[in-house]
Amino acid sequence: MKILVINCGSSSLKYQLIDMDNEQVIAKGLCERIGIAGSHIEGKTFDGREYAADPDLPDHTTAFSYVKDALLEGDCKVIDSLDEITAIGHRVVQGGAVYNQSVMVTPEVIREIDKLSALAPLHNPAHIQGINACTEVFGNLKPQVVVFDNAFHSTMPKYAYSFAIPQDLAEKHQCRKYGAHGTSHKYLVERYAEMKGISLEGTKIITCHLGNGSSITAVKDGKCIDTSMGITPLDGLIMGTRSGCIDASAVTYLQQHEGWTPEETSEFLNKKCGLLGVSGFSSDMRDNIDARDKGDENAKLATDMLFYQIRKFIGSYVAAMNGVDAIIFAGGIGENSIPTREAVVSELGWLGIKLDAEANDCRGKEIKISTDDSAVEVWVIPTNEELAIARDTKRLVEAQ
Ligand code: ADP
Repeated sequence: MKILVINCGSSSLKYQLIDMDNEQVIAKGLCERIGIAGSHIEGKTFDGREYAADPDLPDHTTAFSYVKDALLEGDCKVIDSLDEITAIGHRVVQGGAVYNQSVMVTPEVIREIDKLSALAPLHNPAHIQGINACTEVFGNLKPQVVVFDNAFHSTMPKYAYSFAIPQDLAEKHQCRKYGAHGTSHKYLVERYAEMKGISLEGTKIITCHLGNGSSITAVKDGKCIDTSMGITPLDGLIMGTRSGCIDASAVTYLQQHEGWTPEETSEFLNKKCGLLGVSGFSSDMRDNIDARDKGDENAKLATDMLFYQIRKFIGSYVAAMNGVDAIIFAGGIGENSIPTREAVVSELGWLGIKLDAEANDCRGKEIKISTDDSAVEVWVIPTNEELAIARDTKRLVEAQ
């Protein structure tokens, strides 16, 4: 069975065609700057063939037509007919409190995703555009599934997801913590259990997805009980360009004194803060660590803030779960940044955690980085959200 996984943004479309018999990627690629001058499409196949072009991509439908052609024709052809693709799985950022699991696409589901756009104005409308364009190009007989980024967090207890505001107002505006990266956190705990050959029942795991966007999740018995992102992905850790946790009074104070509109404030907190804002030059962790090592004080502050905040979240989630069995690092920083893992894990000695420095000296590899006598296991597990989406899509299509 082959599943096509789609991740649509307002001006981008990423795809992966996955063979579910062996869970290997057959082809993958992306379309950028859809609807903007300078459109670009590129991709590669499992056996190393590559393509790149700069066609006009005025809309998502055109982009999907190019993806279809890339799969079916030319030097990078991987299938003879669209019949070989059993189903299509779409990533959707915001399922609100409506969806606690993946569902088959129906007109009703599309209407619900549209209604939830207020909570994810940059993402949900783009996902709908993607689903509609996909239906136009691949036909409405091909089953499609939506996998929600926050579904894994739907098990959080009310006292963890609620804000301390009047509850009628919270209800009226659906104003609460939803979290994000749920597909990744779910993949990580399930992969951990699979590797260890254990059930998640009775386990306490902290998953750290650290990338341009970063979130940490407390998972007890395989279920999320708390996560660091909030009503949007702005909350929690300092990120590439997002502020993370910030006193709401600091926000209203800046807004008043700078004379910003709500939109300008949101743009500021999401795009101009984080590592970029503190260092003053880059949102990229590699650049910040390099600059820190050359003596840049602001880069040192930015990286120290991230290390400190990761440790604080881990500590608070140990308290929230009354213990921890394993800590997992993933995402661009979690999988690749040796100094980040070292700075975090070496200060967790109070938990009986011992870092295996030799094992930690690696990038992008599935590996245990704690010593055998460490009281808590620490792992690096490269995340695979696309595979998690494909697995859910397969499960739903087979259950039909
Ligand atoms: P996104 O959230 O956009 O998917 P990624 O998960 O790809 O982002 O993570 C991007 C981050 O990973 C960047 O801050 C980048 O600097 C960081 N990163 C990637 N490789 C390394 C590395 N070798 N050392 C430190 N940071 C790295």
